[in-house]
Amino acid sequence: MNQIAAGEVVERPASVVKELMENAFDAGATRIEIEVAGGGRDLIRVADDGGGIPVQELPLAVESHATSKIESAADLEAVATMGFRGEALASIASVSRFAIESRIPGADEAWRIEVVDGVATPPAPVAGPVGTRIEVRNLFHAVPARRRFLKSETAESARIAEIVRLLALARPGIGLRLVSNGRALVDLPGTEDPRRRIVGVLGAEMDGRLLEVRGEIGAPDDGTLVGLWGLVGLPETARPTSRHQRFFLNGRAINDRSLSHALKEGFRGLIEPGRHPVGVLHLDMAPARVDVNVHPAKTEVRFRDARPLHGLVRRAVRAALESADLVRDIGIPEAPGGGEEPVRPIVETRSMSSAASVPSVPSGSSTTASGHGRTTGFERRSNPGLDLQRAREAIADVPLNTAAVEVLPTLVGRDAVLQVHQSFLVTQDAEGLVIIDQHALHERVMFEQLHARFAEGPLESQRQLVPVVFDAEPASIAALETLAPLLARLGIDAVAAGPRGIAIHAFPSLLIHRRVDPAPFLAELLDRAADGQVDHEDHEAALSEVLDVMSCKAAVKAGDRLGEREIAELLAMRERIDRDGSCPHGRPTHLRIPIAEIERRFGRSPR
Ligand code: ADP
Ligand code: MG
Repeated sequence: MNQIAAGEVVERPASVVKELMENAFDAGATRIEIEVAGGGRDLIRVADDGGGIPVQELPLAVESHATSKIESAADLEAVATMGFRGEALASIASVSRFAIESRIPGADEAWRIEVVDGVATPPAPVAGPVGTRIEVRNLFHAVPARRRFLKSETAESARIAEIVRLLALARPGIGLRLVSNGRALVDLPGTEDPRRRIVGVLGAEMDGRLLEVRGEIGAPDDGTLVGLWGLVGLPETARPTSRHQRFFLNGRAINDRSLSHALKEGFRGLIEPGRHPVGVLHLDMAPARVDVNVHPAKTEVRFRDARPLHGLVRRAVRAALESADLVRDIGIPEAPGGGEEPVRPIVETRSMSSAASVPSVPSGSSTTASGHGRTTGFERRSNPGLDLQRAREAIADVPLNTAAVEVLPTLVGRDAVLQVHQSFLVTQDAEGLVIIDQHALHERVMFEQLHARFAEGPLESQRQLVPVVFDAEPASIAALETLAPLLARLGIDAVAAGPRGIAIHAFPSLLIHRRVDPAPFLAELLDRAADGQVDHEDHEAALSEVLDVMSCKAAVKAGDRLGEREIAELLAMRERIDRDGSCPHGRPTHLRIPIAEIERRFGRSPR
C-alpha cells in the first residue's frame, strides 16, 4: 500500500480514531471503548461489540479497496454506511504496527491478523468476545514527514477527544469511552434520548438552556423531503467562536459554512455580532441529493442546492426563538428614498477629540467586521501618538475614577451627553450627531491602558484563598498549557485539575476590581485559543489577543447604567488616549450622523 496515499485518509491520530469509530458504527456496535497513549502516536486501540468480521474476510479487510459495503456502482448513489471506499484499514495498517482481532456471533473464538511493514500474517485463533478490536501502534513510525507535522501529545489527544465527542453526537445510542494515558476524557453512556447526549457533550451547564429546533421542507413522494432536528443554546450561551456548532447530514458530521451562517442569521439581533450561537443540528434527506464523496475525510459535503437548506435552518431557528418569546422587535425603518448608507462608522478622530493633533491609524477601516484583527494590536502599540505617561496615569485606577472629573464641566458643559438604553452615549460635534457605543469605547480605552501598563512589567495579581475550578474540554486544557507563560505574566495562575477541569489560583487585581468573573473569563480565552485565534508562536500577537479579551471583559457593558460623572470620565479617558475609531474587535466605537443627513431626512434644504 502506498504510504503517500495513506496520508489522504490518515492525516493524524484523530483521523485514525474517526475511521475506526465509523467502522464500529457500520458494524452495529452499541458500545465502543477507545484507548490511546502518547496522543495516539504510541497506541490507539478501539474495541466494539458489533457484528465482527468472518475469519475468511479478515485478510480482505486490510487490503486496499476491499470494502464489504458497496455491491455495485449504483450503491454509491445511496450510501447509508459511514465507510464505503475500503481504504481506511489498509492505509492505517501501512503506516503503523497494526493488529485486528474479530469474532462474529456464533463463532467459538476470535481471529487475529497482524500487519507489520505492510505484510499481513495469516489469521490465528485467539480468545475474545464478539466484536472487533483494532490496535494501532507506532503510527507514522516510518513516515517522518507526517510525524514531524504532528502537534504535542496533549494537542493530539485533545483532537482525538474532540472527534470522539463530535461522533458521539451522531450516535446517541452508542455508549462511548475514551481513555488517554489512563485518564478518561470522554465517558458517555448510550441513551435513547438525543437531548441527553447533547447535554453530555456540550456540558452540564447547558442543561435547561437549550431550545428545540424542528423543521421540514420538500415533499416525501418525490424524494425532496428534508427534515431538521436539533437543539440550540439560548442567546446568553453564545460563544466567542463557532466551534460549538455541530451539523450532521444523515448522521455524518459535516462542515458547511452556509449552514453555520444560517444558524447565526436565525439569532440575528439576539447575540452580539462577534459571538456565535451554540447548536447541534441534524439534517436528513435522500442521499441522492447530496454528494458526500467529495473529500476522503468526508466532512466536506456538497449539496445539489444549498439555498433551501439555508432558509430551512434560519427559519426553524428563528421560530424556536420566537416561540420561546426571545425575539424582540429589531426592525429598523428604511431611510426614505435612501439607497446609500447614511450612517457610517467614524474612523478619524479629528472633530471628536480636543487634542486632535495626532492622526490615528485607521484600524477600524483595516479590520473586517468578522476579523478579530490581530494586526491592530501592533498598530496600536507602535503608534507614536499613544502617550504612555498619560495612559499610565489613567490606569492608576482602572475603575472609572475621579482622575478625569476635572474635565467634567468642560465636556458635559460644552456638549450635552445623554445615555440612552443604558448602552449608548449621544452627543454632538461640529459635524453632527454622535452616538457612542459605551462598551466599545471603554473596551478600547482599557486596551490602551492595559498595553501601557503591561509594558512596565507583570500585572499585579491576587491569590485566591480557594482556587476557582471550572469544567473544561481537553482542547482548552491543551491551550492552557501553551498559554501558561504568557498568562503568568498577566497575573493569571491556572493549572489543569483532573481530566476535565481547570483551577485558577491567582487572577489579575484589575480584573477583580472590574468584577470580572475568573472562570468564564478564562474559559472564553482558552476557547478562543483552542480555536486557533491566539497565535502562541507569535508572542506579540498572542499578547494582543489576550489583552483584547481582558479589555472586553473589564469594560462597562451595554446595559450598565452610567452616572453623569462616569459618562464624563469615559469621554475624558477617550481624550486622554487620544485615539478612537473602533474597539479592538474592529467594531466602531461610535457613529456620526452628519447634520446634513438629518436635515435631508426632515425634508429641509441644506444650509
Ligand atoms: P470501508 O469502511 O470503507 O468499507 P475500511 O478500510 O474502513 O473500509 O474497512 C474495510 C472493511 O473491514 C469494511 O468494509 C468492513 O467489512 C470491515 N470492518 C472494518 N472495521 C470493522 C469493524 N469494526 N467491525 C466489522 N467490520 C469491520
Ligand atoms: Mg471504514
